[in-house]
Amino acid sequence: MNSARLRNTDVIVNLGALRHNIRTQKAALPANSQIFGVVKADAYGNGMTQVAQVLSEEGVAGFCVALLDEGLTLRDAGLQETILVLGITPVQYALIAAENGISLTVGSLAWLRDYQKVAQANGVKKPLKVHLGLDTGMGRIGFQEPADLAAAIKFLAAPEFEFEGIFTHFATADSADQTYFERQLTKWRAFLAVVKDRPRYVHMANSATGLWHQSVIENNTVRMGISLYGCNPSGHEIKPTFELQPVTSLVTHSTFVKKLHRGESVSYGATYTAKEDEWVATLPVGYADGYRRGLTGYHVLVDGQKCDILGRICMDQMMIRLPHEMPVGTAAVLLGRSGNEEITATDLADQLGTINYEILTGLGDRLHRKYIDTND
Ligand SMILES: *Cc1c(COP(=O)(O)O)cnc(C)c1O
Repeated sequence: MNSARLRNTDVIVNLGALRHNIRTQKAALPANSQIFGVVKADAYGNGMTQVAQVLSEEGVAGFCVALLDEGLTLRDAGLQETILVLGITPVQYALIAAENGISLTVGSLAWLRDYQKVAQANGVKKPLKVHLGLDTGMGRIGFQEPADLAAAIKFLAAPEFEFEGIFTHFATADSADQTYFERQLTKWRAFLAVVKDRPRYVHMANSATGLWHQSVIENNTVRMGISLYGCNPSGHEIKPTFELQPVTSLVTHSTFVKKLHRGESVSYGATYTAKEDEWVATLPVGYADGYRRGLTGYHVLVDGQKCDILGRICMDQMMIRLPHEMPVGTAAVLLGRSGNEEITATDLADQLGTINYEILTGLGDRLHRKYIDTND
């Protein structure tokens, strides 16, 4: 499904805020740090190629994606920077990465051996750029022992490979308790001790590490994700020392307005019944757009005022109580600022018992993305 352009509903992506967020964070990082912009999952719902273009203008060293397909989309869009696939790519597709100069994460010697066979059988000329992933405690992918890492590095001397990077990922960099982080850091350092010639990119920092553990980054590359989009990776637990500006808003316009009379009900299950006469607007957004049904009972913003959602959120529509009669076409902010009120992705996440990442990445493809630049 293409995004819907004919319902006056937009995910508004503020590229000026994106620029603000990368510039402020870059200024706070140690000198010689580089940034990989993490643009997986459609740049956390903001539109991968549009976001990557701006980050390219801001001088990032490269991009991180989750999947090879995402990397190819960036190459097709003409981006020339390093592109690293963070997940493990099945060996059978890795030749496509080599041909397109896309770097892959590798977490085992067995994978490298399999790839070498495939590459030799196909007479591939271009070496595959490899980042070795190290599991220091995330428990997801990667080498677990320094000795295995050393063996893999040795194997990477073969002409089928270019040893481009080495990295790990922290499980608790967004937590006030540093115990587990310190344990991972110690393990990371033990891994680095067996790396005699360091590759071009050495990276261990996600947004949270970049925000709260700057002193341990050392000539490193930061994989910056959620903080680029103006969200706090820790939710509320720890505050960034500088302002991050939210990049993403969701604004719709009412399609129907009526007076609901006392005793009349709204939506599936008739769970809401008006206690008095009131004005009700219908909005053309629902859980199929990623505005989750669990937000039933929450509110949206109209003219800087909180307006309750009435009854259950439907697949494609929802109803709200207006403060007074307002015309069809009135704007309603589901995520973002209206007057002095604001609904952040973290607010929506709190309501749903999840994290702001899931709110942003859950914004559906059906929602049209509109790009603005506050500096315009
Ligand atoms: C998604 C991801 C990131 C980005 O994390 P943020 O918390 O959004 O900064 C960095 N590194 C890896 C390995 C990831 O999977």
